[in-house]
Amino acid sequence: MSEDKRKPTTTDAGIPVASDEHSLSVGPDGPIVLHDHYLIEQMANFNRERIPERQPHAKGSGAFGHFQVTEDVSRYTKAALFQPGVKTDVLMRFSTVAGERGSPDTWRDPRGFSVKFYTTEGNYDMVGNNTPVFFIRDPMKFQHFIRSQKRRADNNLRDNDMQWDFWTLSPESAHQVTWLMGDRGIPKTWRHMNGYSSHTYMWVNAEGEKFWVKYHFKTDQGIACLTQEQADTLAGQDGDYHTRDLYNAIAQGEFPSWTLWMQIMPFADAETYRYNPFDLTKVWPHSDYPLIKVGTLQLNRNPTDNHAQIEQAAFEPNNLVPGIGLSPDKMLMGRIFAYADAHRARLGVNYKQIPVNAPQSPVNSYSKDGAMRITPVSDPVYAPNSKGGPAADGERFPTDSVWESGGEMVRAPYSLRKDDDDVSQANQLINQVMDDAARERLVNNVAGHLLNGVQEPVLSRAFEYWRNIDRAIGDRIAQKVQAAHRQS
Ligand code: NDP
Repeated sequence: MSEDKRKPTTTDAGIPVASDEHSLSVGPDGPIVLHDHYLIEQMANFNRERIPERQPHAKGSGAFGHFQVTEDVSRYTKAALFQPGVKTDVLMRFSTVAGERGSPDTWRDPRGFSVKFYTTEGNYDMVGNNTPVFFIRDPMKFQHFIRSQKRRADNNLRDNDMQWDFWTLSPESAHQVTWLMGDRGIPKTWRHMNGYSSHTYMWVNAEGEKFWVKYHFKTDQGIACLTQEQADTLAGQDGDYHTRDLYNAIAQGEFPSWTLWMQIMPFADAETYRYNPFDLTKVWPHSDYPLIKVGTLQLNRNPTDNHAQIEQAAFEPNNLVPGIGLSPDKMLMGRIFAYADAHRARLGVNYKQIPVNAPQSPVNSYSKDGAMRITPVSDPVYAPNSKGGPAADGERFPTDSVWESGGEMVRAPYSLRKDDDDVSQANQLINQVMDDAARERLVNNVAGHLLNGVQEPVLSRAFEYWRNIDRAIGDRIAQKVQAAHRQS
């Protein structure tokens, strides 16, 4: 573009400015003056550029695309976005969990896998991970769990002893820790990993029939993982390896995609299923509930302003649309409060008006005022009213994604089903899914992690933890760690 065609720089108020390079001073060599309001606007704005990072899932990036339904699942849900042939715009964000905004992408950690569907009936957010299970099953432990994975109070360092202290005192973590220490604990890129809802949700069809469901987004690029050594090297060479990969792939027209499959359980099965189907530390074996195909999600547009479109993106599992509901998963219920609350704290009460968070469908809410309100409200500002304001339509949008619940209020773990325990599914992952080479890598990954600062008594508890999952694997881990300790 020729020089004279360039737009003139202005202040944030749109006022043309005289120079991009020189502050106003008393003579060329004299002091700068306080009334150079353009200089002050530049400095003040710069000082306020950073907003609080997410706690957790601080490091991440994302892109835009669409979700296209390719099958007919209307007998399971009336949700507009899952009707045959419907195409919906989406925003996705991938992330690590424990690291801060500048931390390396290739540290061993679960990855966030969040999708915002801009549906015709409001935004639907599927805030998942690249793992089908989680470390804990009660939200009372979540804050403690994340603190144990982050930094100590005294030296501000991450501490494997702290991590294993928490894990070994929380035996329900066994399945997720086995998954994490296995090959899929470090994906090669975000494009080469699956995404899961992990939680069980409810689908409701047009007749009001209810189903329990789990989401599985399977990568169309194929699964690919990094070894611990490859990940360590990359963490030093290119801390933003996954961020760069996603951005470059999309920029080059290599659009990543995932096929959405569902596990669908008839509503009544939940009562008698051999596992508690709402326990987030368990999967539903595919042999019990096979995958049912729904459609394809493709990413094809990079953000142009990472801060406005990704850092300020607010995913929240409470963004549910008609035809999709919650389940009695205690972790999910905890997240229903925690995510929206985190966004209010981080972005302000009107965060849903930030363009990336705003729905593409009409908003007719009674929310009003608050810091940084952008969309004007109009009268009437209360309901019910006789002044033509919005009115809830319970006939069209009934409260139908519900279940019965009863009993005395208690603080207690879930009641156990026939096959419920903390270790069997972890054992199946080791013995039925992994091969010998994968088991060897698992042993090496765990031993390497334990050798990095884990002390007694936590160390002995860690050996016991693994022996409870699988006697032979536990013995191999203990032998490896003890041999290395003898040599040092
Ligand atoms: P299946 O034998 O039907 O399928 C095995 C599952 O394991 C596939 O989903 C596969 O994903 C995944 N997988 C393969 N290698 C690994 C690995 N190194 N780390 C983690 N996951 C891997 O399994 P079942 O349904 O009978 O479950 C057996 C075990 O498989 C479970 O205990 C669980 O640990 C694991 N698993 C089960 C899932 C489920 O929802 N049922 C989902 C993911 C894991 P892919 O097909 O993409 O290769």
